[in-house]
Amino acid sequence: MTGDILTLNAGSSSLKFAVFAPKDSKQTAHITGKIAGIGRAPEFSARDANGMLLVSDQPTVFSPTSTHEDLVAFLLDWLEHQLGNRTLAIVGHRIVHGGQTFSQPVRIDDTVLSELDGLVPLAPLHQPHNLATVRAVAAWRPDLPQIACFDTGFHRTQDTLATLFALPRALSDEGIIRYGFHGLSYDYIAGVLPDHLGPKAEGRIIVAHLGNGASMCAMRNRQSVATSMGFTALDGLMMGSRCGALDPGVVLYLLQSKGMSPAEIETLLYEKSGLLGVSGISNNMQVLEDSDAPQALEAIDLFVHRAASTLAGLVAALGGLDALVFTAGIGENSARVRRSICARLEWLGIAIDHVANERNETRISMDASAIDVLVLPTNEEAVIAAGCRRFVEPSAV
Ligand code: ADP
Repeated sequence: MTGDILTLNAGSSSLKFAVFAPKDSKQTAHITGKIAGIGRAPEFSARDANGMLLVSDQPTVFSPTSTHEDLVAFLLDWLEHQLGNRTLAIVGHRIVHGGQTFSQPVRIDDTVLSELDGLVPLAPLHQPHNLATVRAVAAWRPDLPQIACFDTGFHRTQDTLATLFALPRALSDEGIIRYGFHGLSYDYIAGVLPDHLGPKAEGRIIVAHLGNGASMCAMRNRQSVATSMGFTALDGLMMGSRCGALDPGVVLYLLQSKGMSPAEIETLLYEKSGLLGVSGISNNMQVLEDSDAPQALEAIDLFVHRAASTLAGLVAALGGLDALVFTAGIGENSARVRRSICARLEWLGIAIDHVANERNETRISMDASAIDVLVLPTNEEAVIAAGCRRFVEPSAV
């Protein structure tokens, strides 16, 4: 392959992108960037491989009504100029839900696209934006092959037991099972674990992906054994604006006794709950950490309480724990959240070095800790780029 790989990660309010050289053993993007503020006031920024800002701008063609199609057109045009005599060869997308059909990266054609459309109800906040971006690239650059890389894929190694709800079997048979998400992030971390843990990487590991969306994954032999998210990306940990695990009776009560519509409940659970709902202040952990309001403190405490309880449950799924890894925005940057979660898990034998933790060092456990505790930056884009390379150069993987 001679051209570059473009990775796209489309959310409701942002479109993140990265450009990788066709062959790069270090898997470092030579351009990364995003369009943020989609639907409000879109802003464009991009950086080079050294993190130097290439551009930070509110282009005149952007408006609050700019669609994903408009923004993708802008991005492809900008990239063409920026890349000079280099060209794009392939585009890889983060697709949140692959259902039961897709576990590995797949080339997107009309049949694949319509199957992915059918999964929109399972990820209503993410999948439509992912697919709108696929369609936009197809409209502007129909010559470019497009590859779907799935957030659910990493978890397909789980035993049936870990995926079942205690529902009538007919419902499980039709696909109402626990899928799990954040698989691209877990895949990346699984890939770098041996660099940090040596042979212990094949042991019992829990990775805590704590970002705006948050989940945990229990791994053995660097494969998913259990995870906190389920049928949709609502389950499990408390998140920025999502509720996490909830007694299903609450949904029935909201429907039957409070007369809320399904659409209102969807908005409540996905967009008005979590850190935002409990604090009434923000979905952003950093803002809450900077606040003196008791509601902010309670929201952080609940986040920590739920995270520690979920983690303890996953230890049972693994039959013990050798290492704990924190990743994503909160996991990589919030010393306070890591310290508080670990403090609740001292009974497991976790002992962290508070100085290393405050400095966001890679290893934050004390030498005497029974469990290694690491802070590792995730890189979903690198996993998408690797997925694309398989299509153009099967021998490269
Ligand atoms: P997304 O799931 O949208 O990719 P990120 O992984 O970027 O989200 O994580 C965003 C979260 O990380 C926000 O809650 C943000 O406040 C939090 N975060 C980032 N930096 C810090 C920090 N220094 N201290 C505390 N929280 C942080």
